[in-house]
Amino acid sequence: MPALHPLCCGRLRFDRSVFFPDASPGTRTTVPVPGFLVIHPKGKLLFDTGVACEAAADPVAVLGQRLATTFQMVGAPDENVPGQLAHLGLVPDDIRYVANSHLHFDHCGCNPLFGRSTFLIQRAEMQAAQTPGGRYDARLWQHPLDYQLIDGEHDVFGDGTVLLVPTPGHTAGHQSLVVQVARDSRFVLTADACYSSEHMARELLPSVVWQGDQMLDSMRRLRAMGEQAGSQILYGHDPIQWAALGAARQSLS
Ligand SMILES: [Zn+2]
Ligand SMILES: [Zn+2]
Repeated sequence: MPALHPLCCGRLRFDRSVFFPDASPGTRTTVPVPGFLVIHPKGKLLFDTGVACEAAADPVAVLGQRLATTFQMVGAPDENVPGQLAHLGLVPDDIRYVANSHLHFDHCGCNPLFGRSTFLIQRAEMQAAQTPGGRYDARLWQHPLDYQLIDGEHDVFGDGTVLLVPTPGHTAGHQSLVVQVARDSRFVLTADACYSSEHMARELLPSVVWQGDQMLDSMRRLRAMGEQAGSQILYGHDPIQWAALGAARQSLS
């Protein structure tokens, strides 16, 4: 069975109304940028690569004025992908697969470090990112990497323990990850298909939505998966849940 490690790949501070459109502006919130390492007998998979390391020192140069104005980088020096992998005695070349939930800046920022990995991305997401005028920045994902485009559900290691599941709505080709860590225990990693338990409880859509009906449908499917026996949902940017998870060195069970 695979082991699952939470990696803190940055922290973002911003106005709460970005996540909760019904909140009045003026209150700041800080959320984690999670990545997850899956250690499977057939290889290691990294789910999301967080914010680019260089953004901490010069956010405007790396992310552009719009994002750098909205989001303040407040992660500790080791809260990025290479820093977190180092805590486990690993380097990027040890990672066989990288799966990006989607191609927003806080989910693909460290992609260029993984020149020896195969990237698993939904075809619909890559097509959306390549379409001009969206919320994607080509500088963050348009690198000579081994992008393998997938269509729909994908069983990464062929044994059903690590499944990529399409959850469109936040973006056109968003995907979530389901990891079976024991016969009676599995984790459903929503990524940005649902930011937090509060969003799930209120069926609240954030301000960044590609298609609201599809996002709601994806949230409901994720909730149903989380309600199955032995299942636990891990939300995309939930500071309360994240604080309870512990550090990268410990795997989740
Ligand atoms: Zn996003
Ligand atoms: Zn995000």
